[in-house]
Amino acid sequence: MQELLCRLVAECRDACSSGGVASYIPELAKADPRMLGVSVLTTERTFFQGGDASFPFTMQSISKLISLALAIEELGEDHVFERVGMDPTADPFNSIMRLEMVRPHRPQNPLINAGALVILSLLPYRDSKTRIAVVLAWARRLLGNNAITVHEPTYISEKNTSDRNRSLAFFLRSVGSLKGDVEDLLDTYFRQCSMSVTTKELAFLGMVLALDGIDPFSGERLLRRATARVLRALMATCGLYDGSGEFAVRVGIPAKSGVGGGIVAAVPGRMGIGVFGPALDGKGNSVGGMAVLEHLSARGNLRVL
Ligand code: GLU
Repeated sequence: MQELLCRLVAECRDACSSGGVASYIPELAKADPRMLGVSVLTTERTFFQGGDASFPFTMQSISKLISLALAIEELGEDHVFERVGMDPTADPFNSIMRLEMVRPHRPQNPLINAGALVILSLLPYRDSKTRIAVVLAWARRLLGNNAITVHEPTYISEKNTSDRNRSLAFFLRSVGSLKGDVEDLLDTYFRQCSMSVTTKELAFLGMVLALDGIDPFSGERLLRRATARVLRALMATCGLYDGSGEFAVRVGIPAKSGVGGGIVAAVPGRMGIGVFGPALDGKGNSVGGMAVLEHLSARGNLRVL
């Protein structure tokens, strides 16, 4: 497996040149577009790695899985999905258009920015400081690393260039889809997106979801089976934004991407996978990361969709 992963990274690195790093968040624009890495965690509890597997990057949209899991576990599925839909969208991840057109003004799913903002607003904590402390605690458990922290330069960079997310949040409040202090809420959102990980932590998270919520090392139940299944279903249908359909056809594994270049994938009962490649396609998904997943899925016969 180790050898296969190193070979896949070498084969797919050239694909990165067809993408570009996210530039709307200046800190992300500093990434090297040729970086590419992968980690795999198998049921034998062994990590296999290839390429830039240990290079740290920020979770960005992958963090939406953490706060969604937290919201479902604490508030229940019914409560959460009264306020956010569960359908894919053909619009970009930060689109505002449909929010105004569709009534009630409910974000289409929890994995687009508008949906993630509503999810965070549901969490019953006093302020951003308390909210992010709980999100971090959950992230550490679900990512299998107690040292996970927020990458401050990315957080500040994102906060300083957040016109679009601010617009989404204020619009949502104006139509009653979101309540509370918008600035405080955005602060939690930028911090959660800026949590720093490597592909190893993503492989761990993928394995927790692959095992229906069980910690692959301790055997402890971290999430209810139903919560893990909801997350996997949303990953399969909405995890790569408006590229989710094509990804399902080409790769066939539930996954979630982020504009930091990460993708987490969960092969039910078998494997957790984390990939990182900061060169993105026009939809915000890692070009090299998708190529590695496509080859790995084909060669390992991992397709479940
Ligand atoms: N922090 C990013 C944003 O809000 C997350 C988007 C993504 O990873 O797709 O724009």
